[in-house]
Amino acid sequence: MPGIYLDHAATTPVRPEVREAMLPYLKEQYGNPSGLYQLAVEAEEAMEAARKTIAATLGCETEEIYFTSGGTESDNWAIKSAVEAAKKRKDFGTGGRRCCHIITTQIEHHAVLHTCRALEEEGCEVTYLRVNEMGQISVRELEKAIRPDTVLISVMTANNEVGTIQPVREIGKIARRHHILFHTDAVQAYGHLPLPVKRLGIDMMSASGHKCNGPKGIGFLYVRKGVDLPPFIHGGGQERGKRAGTENVPGIVGLGMSARLAHTKMAEREKKTAAMRDYLIRRLLNEVPFARLNGSLRYRLAGNCNISFQFIEGAALLVLLDEEGICAAAGSACSTGSKEPSHVLKAMGLPDNIAHGTLRLTIGYQNTMEEMDRAVECIKKCVARLRQNSPEFEDYMSGRKMPLSFGIRL
Ligand SMILES: *Cc1c(COP(=O)(O)O)cnc(C)c1O
Repeated sequence: MPGIYLDHAATTPVRPEVREAMLPYLKEQYGNPSGLYQLAVEAEEAMEAARKTIAATLGCETEEIYFTSGGTESDNWAIKSAVEAAKKRKDFGTGGRRCCHIITTQIEHHAVLHTCRALEEEGCEVTYLRVNEMGQISVRELEKAIRPDTVLISVMTANNEVGTIQPVREIGKIARRHHILFHTDAVQAYGHLPLPVKRLGIDMMSASGHKCNGPKGIGFLYVRKGVDLPPFIHGGGQERGKRAGTENVPGIVGLGMSARLAHTKMAEREKKTAAMRDYLIRRLLNEVPFARLNGSLRYRLAGNCNISFQFIEGAALLVLLDEEGICAAAGSACSTGSKEPSHVLKAMGLPDNIAHGTLRLTIGYQNTMEEMDRAVECIKKCVARLRQNSPEFEDYMSGRKMPLSFGIRL
């Protein structure tokens, strides 16, 4: 039986149309866009066509899109350069404004969190906003956190672990009212939600190709015209002198194609994905005892299902699911393979022992209902098998111990 891929928040398969669009630029169309001959001009035109496509998806100007190596670079650039620009301003260090203050959240991706930590080492102060049990920030708390020296608000559009969508429009309004730059990491949201950056009051937005069926190692940063963002990578004059280095032409062409396809029949595709998600959530909660849904039901990415199963280890569950050909993720700090429970679940108030039993299933448009059924059957079987070997589960079943109270059940 073919495997089932349910880890679309980690990365997505490249669409065939994207691969086909890229191929000429890995073959005969190898020109350097900076050149002055026909081969180079053709590469440059392909790159600018991709930029135009992406700008159209956001309702912005082509000059407001800068290609980067992906979400991590876009986040680093937006945050570090916003601070650098503020420090260069004449009034910096006068009128008591000696510090540089950033407002972000406790549930950001590490690309944002670790960038902020690095800036703290350099003397910046950072407020990490709390989230409620659904994973949403309070805009009132955000507004209260603003100080005279606040130079940047960075709040993700949607979370990669629990899929919670933040009140971006309201955050944009607050940022504008206080004349503070607003950056949003939209890596998980781009291609899934409409993001009219002007109407949402977004000044800078990060996105990544491989999270929306494009290639890896390519992404973009939207920077509103009028925001004077210093360059992040110094060198040649590429990307209007803001991001040096010979452009990743095949990647940019692929990103353009994936952006175009993601924004074609988006609502229809997302509706289908959400139906699979709701079915998966309902069946797991109804058919596996001691299961709990993490995150919001209402403000949730269409493809995200994040469930904690009491009395098991998420990492152990992943091993069993892998044997069944199912690709999924757990609720621990991903890449490091660390046993620390996720900072996101922690911030949402989930006790460590429950966070440890977390499974993240993220659905893509090519998944099917039949796959949801097969996944549910496998998960039921694997969870039961793990619980058979759990002393805590045995204690509970024999009445020696009460379970912790559990949250949302459908
Ligand atoms: C994947 C991801 C990133 C990093 O993007 P890369 O292109 O892999 O560097 C940043 N933020 C979020 C929310 C992500 O999901």
